[in-house]
Amino acid sequence: MTTPRHVAVMGVTGSIGRQTLEVLRTAPDAFVLDAVSGGTNLEALASVVNEFSLTRVGVARDEDRGRLAELVAPGVDIVSGPEGLQALSSESELVVNAVVGFAGLPVTLATLAAGHRLALANKESLVAAAPLVQRVRASGGDIVPVDSEHCAIHQCLVGSTTEGHPDVARLLLTASGGPFRQLSSAQLDTVTLADALQHPTWSMGPKITVDSSTLMNKGLEVLEASALFGMTVDRIDVVIHPQSIVHSMVEFVDGSLLAQLSAPDMRLPIAYCLGLPERLSTTWGRLDFTSGFQLEFSPPRRDDFPALDLAYAAARRGGAAPAWLSAANEVAVEAFLQGRIAWREIVAVVATTMDAYVDVTVATVEDVEREDATARRTAHATLPL
Ligand code: NAD
Ligand code: MG
Repeated sequence: MTTPRHVAVMGVTGSIGRQTLEVLRTAPDAFVLDAVSGGTNLEALASVVNEFSLTRVGVARDEDRGRLAELVAPGVDIVSGPEGLQALSSESELVVNAVVGFAGLPVTLATLAAGHRLALANKESLVAAAPLVQRVRASGGDIVPVDSEHCAIHQCLVGSTTEGHPDVARLLLTASGGPFRQLSSAQLDTVTLADALQHPTWSMGPKITVDSSTLMNKGLEVLEASALFGMTVDRIDVVIHPQSIVHSMVEFVDGSLLAQLSAPDMRLPIAYCLGLPERLSTTWGRLDFTSGFQLEFSPPRRDDFPALDLAYAAARRGGAAPAWLSAANEVAVEAFLQGRIAWREIVAVVATTMDAYVDVTVATVEDVEREDATARRTAHATLPL
């Protein structure tokens, strides 16, 4: 790249955030890191600010500003809360949204409203607010997907007609199947939190790791793909692929399939998003054909992993149903991580919450925030005391 690209990384202390820094460190002449944000791990956040000599940083809670100030150089501008995220996200030409959950919404909206490039890992903001995101996106900003499946599809769609993709028959999202892929229905009743956190192919933050174990992650990704590529979910299928080497596929109307492959390593899609339209020269995720390996594919077990069908149902219902699904899931996963509910109950909480959903359209940020809050209240009410 001739002139360095200015980048901000929101959620820098998490799994995607840390891997984004690894990519940036390999190409110091190509990128300038302008600003970062983090949640409650102030030591980790401060160490990034100090390493990159940053002058702007965001922190989730107002009350942490003072303690963070003691850990960084004098004069660093510290912003906080959703307003802080919004301010930091409207300045750099490329913003990586690596915040987890609905809390990432200000980053998505502010980046696109500023007409900048959004490297999106935070699928929850797109799922909850797709109509709003489409509107601000149309004003000039663009989204490049960090999520490995969507990044694969983005690469396979190069050359496809963007408006509605009439040359595409369907998108095939691959899923590892998570740690419980081969367990019987009876065995699924007794799985523990420790079991759920053992993902077979990816090392990720706790929320998405649990989402992968229920297949809710794939359900959210179906909604994410629909919003990103402008296709209804009837043209999006899920296929289980335990090796996580084929990151997703596009089937064209002539029956031809394109796929994107690499060893599972999130630094590849991150580097793709940071470099686009150029490719960064990196060494991660190379496949070793000298030792040979297998690629397997099978259909998902929809009855034992009902999250998938709940996501399709929410997509078909439209309105705030996807926002409800994602919000209820956040509440349920949090309760599971705290040991308050069993694994089976995660998706049961989401299903019960969705039963209470009454059709409503979402036109404004206030609408989305209200629906998110109502869904959370409804989901909380289903939890044990
Ligand atoms: P993580 O839990 O490791 O990190 C989340 C980051 O968000 C942290 O920096 C945390 O401090 C910050 N954060 C949390 N709550 C916040 C709040 N209220 N306000 C501001 N910041 C807050 O999560 P992760 O695994 O890196 O995932 C991040 C996003 O990327 C998720 O949406 C996930 O679905 C998506 N994603 C992750 C992976 C992966 O490999 N980890 C792959 C694909 C997609
Ligand atoms: Mg993914």
